[in-house]
Amino acid sequence: MSAPLLELPPALWDATLAHLRQQGAGVRESGGFLLGKVQRDRRVATHFLPYEQLQHDALQADFVHLSAASFGRLWDYCADHDLDVVADVHTHRYGAGQSRSDSENPMLAIAGHLALIVPDFAQGPVHLEEVGLYLYQGTHRWQRFRGQPVTTLIKFAAAEDTP
Ligand SMILES: [Zn+2]
Repeated sequence: MSAPLLELPPALWDATLAHLRQQGAGVRESGGFLLGKVQRDRRVATHFLPYEQLQHDALQADFVHLSAASFGRLWDYCADHDLDVVADVHTHRYGAGQSRSDSENPMLAIAGHLALIVPDFAQGPVHLEEVGLYLYQGTHRWQRFRGQPVTTLIKFAAAEDTP
């Protein structure tokens, strides 16, 4: 696979990491959805919607859990703003590997859904090759990308390229 899986403005990525870093405060996982447009061969993120904005206690368990009502709010938000869910992103304390829960419970159990994991609770500078990128294949199978390939699959596109 050579085409980028995800395009986003660098300012959005920086703002997302800053939010995750601040929200997790170096002590807990944090996360949210990247929203934008999913086209046949492009996924362009334009917005970040933190989990706690959908559900105030989303980050209080050992791992993020969103209720059915939170997903209802997510779909309402997407419909109101004409956005699609492009990916989810969350932090881990240590590495960017998927936990068993991450692997068994995709945020969106739809083939083609993208999940990003940022290590070290997003503290300090985050290099793309340290981020885990996971493409859901359906039926509890994922295509996993780590290291250098991630840098080719995420493209920092200028905002004017976005629809
Ligand atoms: Zn996780």
